Amino acid sequence: MTIATTNPVNGQVLKTYGAMSDEQIDGAIERADLAHRQLRGTTIEQRGRWLNAAADLLEAERDEIARLMTTEMGKTFAASKAEVTKCAAACRFYAAHAAEFLADQPADARAVSATRAFVRYQPIGPVLAVMPWNFPLWQVIRFAAPALMAGNTGLLKHASNVPQTALLLEDVFRRAGFPEGAFTTLLVGSDAVDRILRDPRVRAATLTGSEAAGRSIAQIAGRELKKTVLELGGSDPFVVMPSADVELAAEVATTARCQNNGQSCIAAKRFIVHADLYEAFAEAFAHRMSALRVGDPMDDSTDVGPLATERGRAEVDAQVCDAVDKGASVLCGGDKPAGEGWFYPPTVVTDLAPGMRMWAEEVFGPVAGLYRVSSYDEAIELANGTAYGLGANAWTRDPQEQERFATDLAAGAVFINGMTTSYPELPFGGVKNSGYGRELSAQGMHEFCNVKTVWVGEGVASAGAGAHAE
Ligand code: NAP
Repeated sequence: MTIATTNPVNGQVLKTYGAMSDEQIDGAIERADLAHRQLRGTTIEQRGRWLNAAADLLEAERDEIARLMTTEMGKTFAASKAEVTKCAAACRFYAAHAAEFLADQPADARAVSATRAFVRYQPIGPVLAVMPWNFPLWQVIRFAAPALMAGNTGLLKHASNVPQTALLLEDVFRRAGFPEGAFTTLLVGSDAVDRILRDPRVRAATLTGSEAAGRSIAQIAGRELKKTVLELGGSDPFVVMPSADVELAAEVATTARCQNNGQSCIAAKRFIVHADLYEAFAEAFAHRMSALRVGDPMDDSTDVGPLATERGRAEVDAQVCDAVDKGASVLCGGDKPAGEGWFYPPTVVTDLAPGMRMWAEEVFGPVAGLYRVSSYDEAIELANGTAYGLGANAWTRDPQEQERFATDLAAGAVFINGMTTSYPELPFGGVKNSGYGRELSAQGMHEFCNVKTVWVGEGVASAGAGAHAE
């Protein structure tokens, strides 16, 4: 894949980069290794000052960064600005909370025949981050902020269509004061990932992206016995039960499906509606979806910009055409527009059935599948009847039903009467083919730490009763 900035509004290639050579990659890994040795000797307070300085830069340069993101992948300028602001807040969150998250955790010393026993969190070294283009700043920051605060260093292999945002991130961390090599952008294609991950100096990898990319990285890491965190695709259900406020549910459903031009892993993608309010919801939802303005993402009045790549739009269009060919109905949208740019209209498809691609696959664009069910059990069966398990939404004002959804939905996150989103304060990740491991919160920071057990005794011959030789 070419490493280039191509404006999705008109398909114009604005800047192309050559991939780094093997020697350049080796040099970057060496610097990341050296920087790790330096970083782990710094205090949390010092790393916090650098991370807060990165937040200052993001805030000061917000509009410029946002314009670049919109040019590279087509999200609306307003969404880009919000993303930059969220990234600055996440940096400040980890700068403020790292001391608490990394503090030694005391254990019951007597129970393990020690005078003192505790858990200490320590960095593991350079971590490879393979990242997607859909939230080109946020996906990277939510890895980098906790990793750098813990004393790890980052090697970023960003998606090939956002090279300028990738380079900007390296520049921000350098200007914020982090040592040379603490965070490096590798301009490489996905074919270079194998050799980078096999390098013994690279200790772990995190990937956010498709299921196929996740499987590929997991195979390499498995062979090399290296830890991975995988944040993969999703086909999140959005269940609407009889006690829900239909208009509000339809309004949030529209945002949940179309934010980021429909290209979010945690976008609600399958709308599962109880028969009691199916007609009312379908009408309100289709009405709101068709009212969204599709157009130039730099224009303040635009709700939905173009899809990021030509290939991505072709895939969405093929999934909709496949459903229609096999008997599905389109309530609104569904026609790929002619003309330049990779636009696709907000679309609602119903009468879906097994055997259609939309039934089983993730749709990465502003296309909703609408399903009718007649009971709670049927809703749960359909909601969980997917290979994915990232987020899940349920709309109900019945407290008992809320409790049941929280337990029964097979997903990494359940949002009741709201849409799934990510917060630095809460763990983020999936189950099943949506991946494993968690980002954000203390969990996200601990994923790339050596969780070290420290046992201190009085030097007796045996560690004591209950100890076993391994
Ligand atoms: P993608 O094709 O998997 O690309 C993501 C990253 O992986 C890019 O840097 C890409 O590099 C690299 N890559 C692709 N194939 C690879 C391979 N075989 N080995 C190593 N690296 C590889 O994903 P996408 O289509 O750009 O992004 C959309 C997907 O990401 C969706 O499935 C979405 O749900 C998922 N996603 C998940 C989360 C989450 O948190 N769970 C968040 C956002 C997106 P190149 O660009 O050079 O190909």
